[in-house]
Formats: sequence, C-alpha cells, structure tokens
Amino acid sequence: MQGKIVKGISGFYYIHVVGAGIYECKAKGSFRNQKIKPLVGDNVEIAILDENEKKGNIEKILPRENELIRPAVANIDGALVVFAAAKPKPNFHLLDRFLVMMEYQHIPAVLCFNKTDLVDEEERKRLQDIYAAAGYPICFISAKEQIGIETVKEQIEGKTFALAGPSGVGKSSLTNVLQSEIRMETGEISMKIERGKHTTRHSQVIPLSKNTYLMDTPGFSSMYMPGFEKEDLKECYPEFVALEEQCRFTGCSHIHEPDCAVKEALSEGKISTERYENYCTLYEEIKDTKKY
Ligand code: GDP
Ligand code: ZN
Repeated sequence: MQGKIVKGISGFYYIHVVGAGIYECKAKGSFRNQKIKPLVGDNVEIAILDENEKKGNIEKILPRENELIRPAVANIDGALVVFAAAKPKPNFHLLDRFLVMMEYQHIPAVLCFNKTDLVDEEERKRLQDIYAAAGYPICFISAKEQIGIETVKEQIEGKTFALAGPSGVGKSSLTNVLQSEIRMETGEISMKIERGKHTTRHSQVIPLSKNTYLMDTPGFSSMYMPGFEKEDLKECYPEFVALEEQCRFTGCSHIHEPDCAVKEALSEGKISTERYENYCTLYEEIKDTKKY
C-alpha cells in the first residue's frame, strides 16, 4: 500500500493512506541498508501487519522531489507564508526573511494575509502593492469570518504546502478552517492531527484531501540557511532578478553601484520601498555575520 509519512516520533512513523486512514509503522525495508532515513513528507510503500490495530512496516521510500535540511522534510511543493494584516501588524522585515528563505531553497511561496476583517480596502491595496512586483500569489483572507478561503484552496489543491509565519497570525485557525472545509473524499482519518500551542512541536503533515497536505514545520519559524552569503541575497528577490541584466555592472549588489536598474525602478515606484529597504538591512546583517 502507498502512503505519506505525516509524522515521525521516536522510531515510529505515521503513514496516511488515502481512503484507509493512518498506520503506525516502523522502518523495516531494505532502504535501511542505503542509510536513508525516512522523512516527514516522504511517500512510502508499506506492508500492513495488523489492519485492526493499524500497524505496518515501511518497505520502501519512493523517490523524493526535494528534501530540506532544516526542517528535515521531503516533497514540499510550496510554502504558505501567513501573516496578519493587523493584530499583529505585518512585520515586513520578517516577512521578507521568510520569502528569502523560500527562494533560496527553491520553494515557491504563496503569501497569505489573514485577519483582513480588521483592515479596510486601502490597507489591502497597500499590502498588495508591496509584493506585486515580486510576483508572489497573494491571498487576502479571514480565517475567523471564513473569507477568501477558496483562494487559498486554489493555490494548494493537490499539493503539499508548508505552513510558515510567526505565531499569533492565525495559522491554527486557518488550518482548522481548511480541515473542516476540505473533506476527505473517501475514508476517514483515524488519528486526528492537530496544531496546538501546547503539543511538542514536531514536523507533521495534515491531510486535507486526497493529495492535498499542509505541512506544519516548527523549523520554518527560524532562519537557518547554511552557506548563505550576501551575494545570494539579490537572487532571492524575484523583482530584482528580473532587472539585473539592465544594471551597468554584472554582479551589481543594487546598493552602491551607479546605473543600477533596481535603484532606478525604485525611484520610479516600480519596486516597493519596503522591499528595497529590507533588502539593504538584510544585506548588512549577512555581511556582518558572514555565515547566516
Ligand atoms: P497561530 O499562532 O498563528 O496559530 O494563530 P491562531 O490561529 O492561534 O490565532 C491567534 C489569534 O488570532 C486567536 O485569538 C484567533 O482567534 C485570532 N484570529 C485568527 N484568525 C483571525 C481572523 O481572521 N480575524 C481575526 N480578527 N482574528 C483572528
Ligand atoms: Zn543593480
């Protein structure tokens, strides 16, 4: 039977099989000789040992699409970067750090502003404008009022998306709404997986529907990018990458150089001041710490 590892705790792996529920498995397959450790997010073949008790063995790890170091998870299609439009006010510096982290790991990001019930249209427009040039899909939602949930569903349907964002912005609320809205097409989930403030924070995958999963990864709350250098930063701003060929100098850092297309776009309002300023701040930070 084929399934997905949704959780791993002290030698046990929990495998979600569409239509059949969740099986508690041990890693017994021949892959152990190859020193491959199963990761949350892995698609695996399992052998059922006891159907009633929902126990089995992992026999094979299917080829990975990708693999992250920290958090150690596999097969991420994208990241849903959640911030609140208000309460707390979005911290654009932190938001950019998340986006940079995703770009660096080649994970497509979808931006999600929650709590839009607390802001007016003008504020939504302002938020939209900051990220428009970068090209990220943006969802404006209210988990509380259940507004805009469809736009999130459209982005994540059929995929495995990691949930990222600071605490208090409504990630749990959104997860709950999505979980209750997107019903499993067949079968039941025998083990309820919940986000919770008081549970030990392991990476876990929350099945939403057939082939749609939300990955809840505590590691995404911190910034850890081994080998990240200041030169890598400009590659993590898509709207800068689009312009860099027009800069006078190859390898232009878009900070001190003359005839810089990014600075020109900034003065024309085509690149947002917030994004550019965060870029400069991050650049200084990385320069000072050398290793990020
Ligand atoms: P998490 O820490 O990111 O998981 O955030 P929670 O889901 O625990 O939400 C933090 C607080 O924000 C809770 O008090 C929620 O009731 C509240 N909240 C969540 N979503 C919304 C929303 O769309 N609008 C408003 N006004 N409050 C919300
Ligand atoms: Zn430049």
